[in-house]
Amino acid sequence: MKSSRLLCALLAVLVLLCGCEKEPPPPEEPEEEESHIATLLAMDTVMKLTVYGPDGQTAADRASARIEELEALLSVTDEGSEIFAANHSEGAAVPVSSDTAALLRKALELCGASEGTLDVTVYPVVRAWGFTTGNYRVPETGELRELLDRVDYNRVSLEGGTLTLPAGTEIDLGAVAKGYAGDQVMASLKAQGVSSAIIELGGNVQALGSKPDGSPWRVAVHAPDGSGYAGVLEIRDQAVVTSGGYERYFEEDGETYWHIIDPATGYPAKSGLASVTVVSESGVEADALSTSLFVMGRERAAEYWRAHGGFQCILISEDGSVAVTEGLEDSFSLYGSWSGRPLEVIRSS
Ligand code: AMP
Ligand code: MG
Repeated sequence: MKSSRLLCALLAVLVLLCGCEKEPPPPEEPEEEESHIATLLAMDTVMKLTVYGPDGQTAADRASARIEELEALLSVTDEGSEIFAANHSEGAAVPVSSDTAALLRKALELCGASEGTLDVTVYPVVRAWGFTTGNYRVPETGELRELLDRVDYNRVSLEGGTLTLPAGTEIDLGAVAKGYAGDQVMASLKAQGVSSAIIELGGNVQALGSKPDGSPWRVAVHAPDGSGYAGVLEIRDQAVVTSGGYERYFEEDGETYWHIIDPATGYPAKSGLASVTVVSESGVEADALSTSLFVMGRERAAEYWRAHGGFQCILISEDGSVAVTEGLEDSFSLYGSWSGRPLEVIRSS
């Protein structure tokens, strides 16, 4: 199942490269400086790193190896990973690498700030719905209630490099791992002297600097209804992370169930949002926030942004309406068939 999902993702990218999408992506101006590309399948998705500059290929290949290293530590399904070992430890303490510890520490902090919408221990519930295996099913309410007893990130104990999970508690860093990987790729490229790069890790895009000619990168935001692209965003030195119900879902008896779970109910989050795109300098924060704001819904997400700041976002509702926080007013524009719609601007006061 995992490989068939990867194949679908790969085909989607190929379709995009062939230009056969219903609506073509926004035209890019020709680049003067040569680009160096590394592609890989990791973290259950297709990844592409595009690096500019003289030693770009070596830099891209090393950054790609860094992602593979992280995946080997963080995968929830790979029997050799540190997360797998912790999830099967039956309450015993397990040693973890500095990467796993750093990401988990950050993830726990973000869960704490998420008002109950992000919980890295929601894994038993995600698995019951079949989202890790592809064996989709709708669990009984009683089953979900029992599984929810095992969900509480406050039970995770991380002291230095030692991780202890009580028996029954399992963690899944799927909501934040690609964001962390993006930050690590940026660090790797910078350390290798690169000043211009753009990376696509599935739905996560992250930019180092600006385009070689100094202009901003143009990132397309997917239309959650499958009608091509909803908008285009201009960024420099930022991560753009989208969470949407359309990314992974199944249908049963006319109902759609997707992979983002509300930890308060154990059911897929039906908040009225179809997708959330977060723009931030931090990939891991953008990744955590895109998942939590999706669970929160339009009004709570806007309130959260007003109270916390430090990021900007695009909220696309299931009724097709689009709202952006005021920091994106000049850098985001609706695109193609979406361009005639009203664009609401969420202001800080
Ligand atoms: P993302 O695609 O970043 O929004 O993350 C979604 C993935 O994170 C899912 O495929 C699950 O593995 C996991 N997940 C789902 N709901 C939650 C949640 N509320 N908190 C933390 N992780 C979640
Ligand atoms: Mg996320």
